Amino acid sequence: MAILVIAEHDNKSIATATLNTVAAAAKIGGDIHVLVAGQGIGAVAESAAQIKGIAKVLLADNPAYAHQLPENVAPLVVSQVIEQHTIYSHVLAPATSSGKNILPRVAAALDVDQISEIISVESADTFKRPIYAGNAIATVQSSAVVKVITVRATGFDPVAAQGGSAAIEVVGAGHDAGISSFVSEELAKSDRPELTAAKIVVSGGRGMQNGDNFKHLYSLADKLGAGVGASRAAVDAGFVPNDMQVGQTGKIVAPQLYIAVGISGAIQHLAGMKDSKIIVAINKDEEAPIFQVADYGLVADLFEAVPQLEQAL
Ligand SMILES: Cc1cc2nc3c(=O)[nH]c(=O)nc-3n(C[C@H](O)[C@H](O)[C@H](O)COP(=O)(O)OP(=O)(O)OC[C@H]3O[C@@H](n4cnc5c(N)ncnc54)[C@H](O)[C@@H]3O)c2cc1C
Repeated sequence: MAILVIAEHDNKSIATATLNTVAAAAKIGGDIHVLVAGQGIGAVAESAAQIKGIAKVLLADNPAYAHQLPENVAPLVVSQVIEQHTIYSHVLAPATSSGKNILPRVAAALDVDQISEIISVESADTFKRPIYAGNAIATVQSSAVVKVITVRATGFDPVAAQGGSAAIEVVGAGHDAGISSFVSEELAKSDRPELTAAKIVVSGGRGMQNGDNFKHLYSLADKLGAGVGASRAAVDAGFVPNDMQVGQTGKIVAPQLYIAVGISGAIQHLAGMKDSKIIVAINKDEEAPIFQVADYGLVADLFEAVPQLEQAL
């Protein structure tokens, strides 16, 4: 049996979440094939072939896949699984916006249930996943013929991006379902590390009072080489863009160090950061629930503490 991993990429390079997903596949056991679908993706396929532990790269290079429209990519995945049904026992993708867009369609088309956001592999058919905003961990055993699984990247250390030498096989005539089209995208440009990959994250909440005050966090983050996140309250108030939101309905992060500034610690926020190795909280309310998960808590006015911290650094 083999495992099909859907690579996440931007037609230029492979996203780190793919390496975490391959790590999950390696725990399941069996040959690992990586599907790279996109346009002009020869270089991406080459780097996928170098990922440690990959047996084969399936390359689907076509304009229909250029923007990862799930209406087009899902049928490609399904056709691979059906054509090769004797070999694929599992289909895995990172639990990112893209993976969460593609895999439910694959599961529906294959008439199996999806197993979402696994954080550990117990055996080839049994997995652990958080439920109730991370307040409980469910152990899920699946009897589906093909197990369709999204992988929470923070649950698995990435495999090495180098060291493999997989064969590359061209697959799939371009399938344009003709029911969606790409219009445009606006990407936030930042020199800071991407939130889900950053080793240090500094996040601000409603306590920041406005977007302008986030400059204190940006300069602190730049001293630390950190990514900057936010609570949903800060996003909803328009302080910062929504791609900075950390939490149940935002990004899931588990950095070495998470600094929560002016964030109360609602369970929906904790769901996105409580697996961080060390949590530091700065809040003027000593009763704030964030202090229950913090390794280090500072009861202070952030407008005094953050500049002092930055100066000390
Ligand atoms: C279905 C659902 C999904 C949700 N998903 C998310 C999610 O993904 N992420 C998320 O974050 N939330 C999410 N929420 C919202 C969540 O419940 C909270 O409302 C939100 O996290 C609160 O954000 P906050 O801590 O910034 O604001 P508040 O709860 O208002 O806390 C602000 C904190 O700042 C402190 N403060 C104020 N001024 C200062 C100062 N000068 N110095 C120091 N401290 C100060 C206050 O003491 C307070 O603790 C979700 C809610 C629902 C219902």
